[in-house]
Amino acid sequence: MCVYCAGTLKETTTDFVEKIDNYVIIIKNVPCEKCSQCGEEYFSDTVAEKIESILDSIQKISSEITVTVIDYATQAA
Ligand SMILES: [Zn+2]
Repeated sequence: MCVYCAGTLKETTTDFVEKIDNYVIIIKNVPCEKCSQCGEEYFSDTVAEKIESILDSIQKISSEITVTVIDYATQAA
């Protein structure tokens, strides 16, 4: 149940966008639960940790890249 509007949550995927300094990382197809009323997105602890580790590894290799697009599905194995 949504903490903001008590709406129903539906399992889906989303594009996670993170802005760090002068570049943007987009992780596509991230599993999440989305409120059917207000659109708030919720990530499980597992997914949140995975996102953290993806962001960590990307920051080390992409200092000269301004936009990085990652497909969550290829990183989650
Ligand atoms: Zn809601």
